[in-house]
Amino acid sequence: MMYEYGNLISGQWVPAGGSEFLTHNPARPKEFVGRYTAASDAQLAAAGKAAAEAQREWRSTASVERGAIYGRVVSAVESRAEEIARSITLEQGKPLAEARGEVAKSCAEARFMIGEASRGHSEVLPSARPGIKNMVVRRPRGVIAAITPWNFPILTPMRKISPAIVFGNAIILKPSEFTPAAACLIADCARGILPDGLLQIVQGDGRVGARLAGHPGVSGITFTGSVATGKKIYAIAAQRLAAISLELGGKNAAVVNDTDDLNACLDQITAAAYMCSGQRCTAVSRVIVKRPLLGDVIDGLVARCKKIALGDGLLTGVTMGPLTNASQLARVDAMVRKGVGEGARAVVGAAPAQVMGLEGGYFYAPTVLVDVAPEMSVAKEEIFGPVIVVLAYDSLDEAMAVLNGVAYGLTSALFSNDNRVIQHFVDESENGMIHVNHGTIPDNHMPFGGVKSSGVGAYSVGSSTVNFYTTEHSVYIKHR
Ligand code: NAD
Repeated sequence: MMYEYGNLISGQWVPAGGSEFLTHNPARPKEFVGRYTAASDAQLAAAGKAAAEAQREWRSTASVERGAIYGRVVSAVESRAEEIARSITLEQGKPLAEARGEVAKSCAEARFMIGEASRGHSEVLPSARPGIKNMVVRRPRGVIAAITPWNFPILTPMRKISPAIVFGNAIILKPSEFTPAAACLIADCARGILPDGLLQIVQGDGRVGARLAGHPGVSGITFTGSVATGKKIYAIAAQRLAAISLELGGKNAAVVNDTDDLNACLDQITAAAYMCSGQRCTAVSRVIVKRPLLGDVIDGLVARCKKIALGDGLLTGVTMGPLTNASQLARVDAMVRKGVGEGARAVVGAAPAQVMGLEGGYFYAPTVLVDVAPEMSVAKEEIFGPVIVVLAYDSLDEAMAVLNGVAYGLTSALFSNDNRVIQHFVDESENGMIHVNHGTIPDNHMPFGGVKSSGVGAYSVGSSTVNFYTTEHSVYIKHR
């Protein structure tokens, strides 16, 4: 077994307690990768107590000092980057090059966050009364509970750990039960650098997640995952009015209106759609094309799909790994079949893929569905797999109606050189993130999040994090 971890409580990996669970390599499902122990109620209680104690000290450490200490954690992660990247490929399945990119991006976002938190974010404002000084100051929120999914085993945990720690909080993280290794390796990097209890890991499935979210000592809950689970966590938070940040799914679209470089446009769309086997919340899932370009766009997407090399992500030359687990494979396949049943036509893929030597691996062929109408389930629901659905339009109004006619509002991309079209898209796209003439990959310092069913509460990454990881206090001082 490559990875064996219990729960990290107050600086110690505590093995016994709850039930054991195993992770496996999705490219070779018979190969077990990790053995973990789910957190018991007693361990959750101990984690809550240790977090509160550690945070009391940490909050009075100067923000610049907190950043300097956390910077050593980031350096430790960087020095173990290759080991962490391999753990991601082994448990999650993505190609090693993508996993390496994920580690690097996590560290780059963390470094920005260190500078961001050192700014303090206080304001001095004029008073309405003479002799009084007004200030708005920020304080650490307290103990943060973080619950993360399996698609980005280091990026999502680090997106929560970095702001939590540098803004002066303690954090208890429950990683996905499918991919805990990367989070455990981060915690190993932090041991001996951060005070005990400041970053703790509890293991397990949704039952542990629900108990963590319901812990009375937790003052903020940050969750990334599905809409269904997000709603359950929102309800738990409401019971005691804990602060909430939910980052949920997407049904992201690229609108192709006009382009002077169709190849570059299709390269961007293909990368945004099939990276991580399409299991990104920001994956392009719909391509909405102006009718005269339809044939060329479909041909170009199909040609690119045929060049994708499926396989074990640890092997050189592989450009797409498997889906992460068996239920994902079954779910994606069922959604594609349903779409075909509703009238969509598969021009490439649309079936689980057999890879020689990797029989039983959870591979799904890169897929393009055409003749898709906006009412079809494949045009409205998140697929979370390597599937593009293509819809055609005649007028920009029609394109915008299709773009915005879904419950989600995470990210969108427009390809156009027409300034009026660009301005209209930027004004009217109902998405938290809006890209023009490139795919949906976000920057390391820009707010990241969604509107409509894609999110609730403050965005993560960049300047927005202060709104979740701190509380705001208006101060009026009359000096005597
Ligand atoms: P999921 O909702 O099934 O699980 C996410 C996490 O929640 C896991 O750690 C899981 O153990 C935990 N969990 C499950 N039930 C719970 C409960 N009742 N109470 C508390 N915790 C519970 O999601 P997933 O399948 O792991 O991830 C895929 C989903 O995540 C997709 O919908 C995707 O779009 C979304 N996602 C969103 C973003 C974003 O930033 N918006 C990023 C990545 C993934």
